[in-house]
Amino acid sequence: MNVALAKPTLQPEDLRERPFTSTRNACKLCAPLGASIAFRGISGCIPLIHGSQGCPTYIRRYVISHFREPIDIASSNFSEETAIFGGEDNLKKALDNLTRQYQPEAIGIASTCLSETIGDDVRLYLDRYIKAKQGLALPVLLHASTPSYRGTHAEGFHEAVRVAVEALAQGGSQTEEVNLLPGFLSPEDLRHLKDVFDDYDVPCTLLPDYSETLDGESWETYQKLSAGGTSLAAIRGMGHARATLQFGRSLMGKKTAGTYLEERFQVPLVSLDIPIGIRATDRFFAFITGCTGRKMPKRYAAERGRLVDAYIDGHKYLFGKRAILYGEADFVTSIVSFLDEIGMVPVLCATGAAPGKFRQQVTSVLENTHELPEVVEDTDFVTMLEMCQKLAPEIIIGNSKGYSLARKLGIPLVRVGFPIHDRIGGQRLLHVGYRGTQQLFDRLVNTLIEASQEASSVGYSYI
Ligand code: SF4
Repeated sequence: MNVALAKPTLQPEDLRERPFTSTRNACKLCAPLGASIAFRGISGCIPLIHGSQGCPTYIRRYVISHFREPIDIASSNFSEETAIFGGEDNLKKALDNLTRQYQPEAIGIASTCLSETIGDDVRLYLDRYIKAKQGLALPVLLHASTPSYRGTHAEGFHEAVRVAVEALAQGGSQTEEVNLLPGFLSPEDLRHLKDVFDDYDVPCTLLPDYSETLDGESWETYQKLSAGGTSLAAIRGMGHARATLQFGRSLMGKKTAGTYLEERFQVPLVSLDIPIGIRATDRFFAFITGCTGRKMPKRYAAERGRLVDAYIDGHKYLFGKRAILYGEADFVTSIVSFLDEIGMVPVLCATGAAPGKFRQQVTSVLENTHELPEVVEDTDFVTMLEMCQKLAPEIIIGNSKGYSLARKLGIPLVRVGFPIHDRIGGQRLLHVGYRGTQQLFDRLVNTLIEASQEASSVGYSYI
């Protein structure tokens, strides 16, 4: 039957006039996506999304376009019937299939908006499943409760790390090991952090570690579960490490893997900002030196010296430049701190995370600016565009989701964080440490120089 479509009466201009309560291009991603990435940072662990097929399809699409690596993410494949009667049978079938086809060491289950909304009791389902399989060798079953209406991709990520530690960590005599919970950083960042601990000659358990699983070499034949990741044995050992370091100011006061290790096994916990910029990186190196009694290796002192020199060289290009920042709350806070130390002015700091302490977080790292930024939580890119009209920004720093914002404002976007799906190499961007800060600093300076060259009627070749 042909149905004539009615001519739309609502024009885009009308929409702009109306007050909205809906979110329009949210400044965040889905919580099971964050959990899936964390689970792929555990050796032999396959993520299983408990919900309908659309969720893992979206997650795979996002993950592949950023990391440029294949990733197998399973689904318990809800139908209309499952949404009414519950997902226990589907979950059991998915666990059986995964165990048979992948022989994983662990299965990381992340529940979706749908399964959480209908009230699926995944913990109970898993208990019954394990009981029914008594006597059989099962993979470790981890469950992260990750409805996206309650949290962002970053919260899903931290939840997955927490449940892995709670399920596996064991006590014992204290070792020299330091636990590092870096949060959602790039594979290159993870490699750099491991190098730092290697250069200090301090053993470190990095959780999660997707530096190889999501940024590996090319294969001769397809691997269902790419090699690499934090081993289950290493996670078990986290309960008797000498200390835990977690990155992320927003985690303070929350239940995390680090707080669990401290409360359950008395492993001291230190929380620091993600080490971007000299101030935050100094604190990171001071932690390692303080905790282990070892001196900072010379190469890092030299990297710091070169970075200070670059700050002096590039200051005239950056000073007073007005920037928009958005993304994951802790990542934005660390970049704000870095911009503050190089004399740039963050004019808008935005995150899609639910209202909390983001404003306090951002303002607490500002030491030099005379202009407080606009700070927004639980926001979207349309709201950000509206706010930008009055702020006269000159540069945007964030992930690829801000491309249309940059295009509409006619200012450059420096891509950082996740997702970067309109450029290649997002997984190889280094953000942390003196070296990562150096790279970010150079990119900022060069982007601003390029923007001035393009805007110039003269076309200076020497600026
Ligand atoms: S429905 Fe929820 S869990 Fe599924 S993709 Fe969307 S935000 Fe993620």
